[in-house]
Amino acid sequence: MLKVENVSKSYGNLKAVDNLSFEVANGEIFGLLGVNGAGKTTTFRMIIGLLEKDSGKITLDGKPINYKITDKIGFLTEERSLLLKLTVKEQVIYYGVLKGMKEEDILNKLDILLDKLKIKEYKDKKIKELSKGNQQKVQFITAIINDPKLLILDEPFSGLDPINVALFMNIINELKEKGTSIIFSSHRMEHVELFCEKLVILVHGKSVLEGNLKDIKKQYGKKNIHIIGNVDKDELLKIDGVEEIIETNEIVVRVKNENFVSNVFNYVAKQKNITKFCVEEPTLNEIFIEKVGEEYEK
Ligand code: ATP
Repeated sequence: MLKVENVSKSYGNLKAVDNLSFEVANGEIFGLLGVNGAGKTTTFRMIIGLLEKDSGKITLDGKPINYKITDKIGFLTEERSLLLKLTVKEQVIYYGVLKGMKEEDILNKLDILLDKLKIKEYKDKKIKELSKGNQQKVQFITAIINDPKLLILDEPFSGLDPINVALFMNIINELKEKGTSIIFSSHRMEHVELFCEKLVILVHGKSVLEGNLKDIKKQYGKKNIHIIGNVDKDELLKIDGVEEIIETNEIVVRVKNENFVSNVFNYVAKQKNITKFCVEEPTLNEIFIEKVGEEYEK
């Protein structure tokens, strides 16, 4: 288990991370979210010991993280950092050996991962000859070649198409099944929603929302009612509990909480040509925008 307790870090007068605490259990996928400059990369760097924290405590399975256990950690950095003149195979051997692996084990693992990521044919190609997405796959392989106990993924999906996002997700889920603690950052809330159970949202280095995704949605309370049919927006806005109407290819009515759904239903039931009335949870994107917006304005 990764435990981050009351960790802070300043750069001069700027408090980049402010008294942050969270835990990531074995076999758990945890999202560290926030807008640009919120303190995500600083947090990751402190976790792996690349950056000294000002205060607080970080432990993996009860032990402080230092160079002795770096072979148990995998880190995909936001900046891509591959040696462009090396071949894929040479690059992965280089990182694998740094993590204390035998060359034979590295090569066996490499073949499996190249196959899973559908880039077998690039094994002996130079990194500089690969597309950006394929370079990212190689960097991902270097981060997981050692079957890490703790895997940190800083924006793992940036620049990847949906098919490759799915390939990454399959491998990440396999590691989760094996008990790896996985922590990742992303600006794309739909990715977070797809496969992360717990999360923390940072604003100016401080947690503004944290917990289980399901609980966060429950506490947020609001519901979205999706309607297709002839309804009058002005009439809907007059209904008690209706906060907002969003028009897409359907009408989305945001209500304060589920107790107000029946008010909207009573109105809609009397209208003509209704082909859809569906109550849905708010998206993480909506919660993120509202929470982060509120804290920014403070
Ligand atoms: P992004 O999503 O843009 O990568 P982030 O959430 O990872 O952002 P950090 O890179 O951790 O944010 O930065 C947090 C704050 O600390 C920002 O205001 C940033 O400008 C500042 N910062 C980061 N690194 C340094 C540094 N080496 N020296 C001074 N300030 C820094």
